[in-house]
Amino acid sequence: MTDAVGIDVGILKYVHDSDGTAVEPPDLSEERERLERAQRNLSRKEHGSNNWEQQRRTVARRHADLKRKRRDFLHKLSTYYAREYDLVAVEDLDAKGLVELPGNSRNRAGASWGTFLRMLEYKCEREGTHFVAVDPRGTTKECASCGVETDKPLWVREHSCPSCGFKTDRDANASWNIRSRGLEQVGTGCPESTPVETALPTDTDSVSAKRVVETGSPTLTERTASAVSE
Ligand SMILES: [Zn+2]
Repeated sequence: MTDAVGIDVGILKYVHDSDGTAVEPPDLSEERERLERAQRNLSRKEHGSNNWEQQRRTVARRHADLKRKRRDFLHKLSTYYAREYDLVAVEDLDAKGLVELPGNSRNRAGASWGTFLRMLEYKCEREGTHFVAVDPRGTTKECASCGVETDKPLWVREHSCPSCGFKTDRDANASWNIRSRGLEQVGTGCPESTPVETALPTDTDSVSAKRVVETGSPTLTERTASAVSE
């Protein structure tokens, strides 16, 4: 099975996969601003008045806009992976515990990833693609090249192996480990399948959202932690 991909979900990059595709979280700042403006207007109206009732509906619409845009992004991203690959490996979020994340963003990001993975799972099933949730322990620490584990605080964005000298992006390294684990997991279930070597792509720094954009996802502009949330 050559068409296998490992996907690392994150905050700065919504996903980073083992083929070097990285996708930024959707930019929802405009929708969020419009919602906040509508909410401020509502608070200035007399509660229960006609104007208030009208404005309350506007607030509800702005909420729906925001939600729609976020789900649209997740739908396009999950469809892309389910259609493009034969095997999609992700980290088991329940096991991950999301401990690496700072408190505030944890719940919101976690909820969004949960939605993404659920979409991904049912779409993979629909497309006949293997969906594998792997053990997340040490995917960041482990060297994708030699397997030696090195501790790495969250702010260290580069993987630099003291044992074999392999250097790459932190998330790229994690995504390759996720891919190998996915292949292993499927391999143990089907004894007749041959083990597949994880070939590390040569262009380890290539970060491209192009293919995803072509499938029609919303503008993938640079966003930080808050973007994953609403
Ligand atoms: Zn190494």
